[in-house]
Amino acid sequence: MINKYSEEKFDIRNFSYEELAAYLKAEGERPFRATQIFEWLYQKGAWSFDEMNNLSKPLRVLLTERFILKPRKIAEKQISADGTTKFLFELDDQQRIETVLIPTAKRTTVCVSTQAGCKFGCRFCASGIGGWKRNLTTAEIITQILHIKEESKKHGNPLSHIVYMGVGEPLDNFAHVMKSVRIINDKKGVNIGARRITVSTCGVIPGIEQLAKEGIQIELAISLHGFDNASRNVLMPVNRKYPFDDLMAACRAYIKATKRQITFEYILIKDVTCTEKAAAALKKSFKGIICKMNLIPYNPVSEFDCQTPSRNEMFAFKNQLERIGIHTTLRAPRGKDVAAACGQLRYTVDNVVRKMT
Ligand code: SAH
Repeated sequence: MINKYSEEKFDIRNFSYEELAAYLKAEGERPFRATQIFEWLYQKGAWSFDEMNNLSKPLRVLLTERFILKPRKIAEKQISADGTTKFLFELDDQQRIETVLIPTAKRTTVCVSTQAGCKFGCRFCASGIGGWKRNLTTAEIITQILHIKEESKKHGNPLSHIVYMGVGEPLDNFAHVMKSVRIINDKKGVNIGARRITVSTCGVIPGIEQLAKEGIQIELAISLHGFDNASRNVLMPVNRKYPFDDLMAACRAYIKATKRQITFEYILIKDVTCTEKAAAALKKSFKGIICKMNLIPYNPVSEFDCQTPSRNEMFAFKNQLERIGIHTTLRAPRGKDVAAACGQLRYTVDNVVRKMT
């Protein structure tokens, strides 16, 4: 079986449970074999078929002949003083993707990438600087999670939360992202509750509509960042395709259809996004929406001419939003010393490599 992205063997972690069960059935295997293989892959953390010692020898031989369990290749690892650890994985085609382990007192979160590079070009985000290369496969997404699951054990706290907030746009790689979500959520798979899985989007409306129909209770986060159409046009080119008002309408429809809240991500850039004008515009657009708004201080990227506001400015803006009834949290910047904002590790390392060659 050939991977559609290369001429190599198909990584078995691209199979959903149902696909694996159907495959094994066609091979004349008993149904419980799919459950056993899923347990080895996602609960016992096997990285080879040889380890799966409750499978019959012929089945192990068959799996080894037909499939692959690609090993991890870590190109770079950076550990921050606050424990945030960034991994840069190198894929078969030399693409590099980053994954972040974020340990806090109550939870251990992994931030996963969904694409190699990003095509959306937000004006403050390092992920888009080198352009878009390709979608990640389900197996490539899952492998990041399995690696962090293993790492988090070393920290003494099991992996509890998954956020699709690494490099790339999850809803632009919908099929692989959703397949990975279902494997993570599956009791026979990684077994993490849907409410502990967050998918974040820059505002790809067809993906939001599709997600509402999936019937899964995961969390949706919207990277809003602009306070009206004009400001969002400047900060996020995706807004030209999916304008601010249409996005807000899609969010209202999503909330109505799923009866779930949405988290909005809102970047704080000095004199741009945290002004009185911005607060007044948000008041208008958020009328009647019950939500949480995560305020994220701009994390400097040398390519962009943006500044982080002072603590006072940030808190003043937060208070303004609270006064008009928008519930906010001010995200504590984590892993600053390891360039933890989106795309920064990949970008920094690529740059260093470029300078060396
Ligand atoms: N493409 C998806 C997933 C990426 S999530 C999305 O846009 O939602 C990563 C989050 O970090 C996004 O909200 C993104 O806008 C934000 N981000 C990117 N660069 C940043 C920076 N320099 N400072 C602060 N936040 C940043």
